[in-house]
Amino acid sequence: MSEEKPTPVINADTRPFWEACRNRILKFQKCRACGHVRWPAAYLCPECHSLDTLWVPVSGKGTVFSYVVYHVAYHPGFLSDVPYVVALVDLDEGPRFLSNITGCSPDEVYCDMPVEVAWEDRSAEVTLPKFRPREA
Ligand SMILES: [Zn+2]
Repeated sequence: MSEEKPTPVINADTRPFWEACRNRILKFQKCRACGHVRWPAAYLCPECHSLDTLWVPVSGKGTVFSYVVYHVAYHPGFLSDVPYVVALVDLDEGPRFLSNITGCSPDEVYCDMPVEVAWEDRSAEVTLPKFRPREA
């Protein structure tokens, strides 16, 4: 089995998201009809079913909703990372986003912890939005 970490598969729905990440800008779809900012990307608004959407940059700031600490690597590409944190981050603009908390020890992570986006280049095409601690 390869020891390289898996990378997200980019498709027509998510290409604008990943292209913005490549430029270190976090963008989500915003419904022009009701203003709902959503993730994951979808062709219609889950709140009002409008098809009228635009991509908008967000602050990259949020708080940890919940998290787990992985002490076992379930893929060989993550062996050198354990222990590492997988967290649900509630972004200030609304979406709840699954990512990693970096820049601190797993012991320092807590629910409601203020975080901000931190970028990790994974490949020539993919830059991953991760999150690090920030001051409240
Ligand atoms: Zn809507």
